[in-house]
Amino acid sequence: MAECIFCRVGRGEIPAEKLFEDEFVVAFRDIHPVAPVHVLVIPKQHVTAAWEIDQSHGFMLARMFIAANDAATQTGIAESGYRLVINAGPDAGQSVDHLHLHVLGGQRLGWPPFPPAE
Ligand code: 5GP
Ligand code: ZN
Repeated sequence: MAECIFCRVGRGEIPAEKLFEDEFVVAFRDIHPVAPVHVLVIPKQHVTAAWEIDQSHGFMLARMFIAANDAATQTGIAESGYRLVINAGPDAGQSVDHLHLHVLGGQRLGWPPFPPAE
């Protein structure tokens, strides 16, 4: 997945405002934030979307949540609250085909996160 944009972020080939990095994951600020705090957490391993996750990804997923916890603390939203989102596929608006966890906070977040069905 040489050209995958988030694989490239993971390898450090595309600059990102990183908050957390280890051998398995990177957390970095979203380039187009939709909330005062908007961080993305990605695995360094290419996983296209949530539907590819299986038992073998257990450790990687734990590291993603640990990175999200760390990013929430660093950005000051651990106590006020935040939302973790994974968009999967067209109806959810997934625009980058590399698994990523959105960490959203710093304001009151609406629920449900979509307009009511007509
Ligand atoms: P999705 O819509 O797939 O759930 O989320 C993709 C997110 O990646 C979007 O919020 C978008 O702003 C962000 N994004 C896309 N390209 C880049 C990039 O090159 N750098 C950063 N930091 N964020 C990106
Ligand atoms: Zn990738």
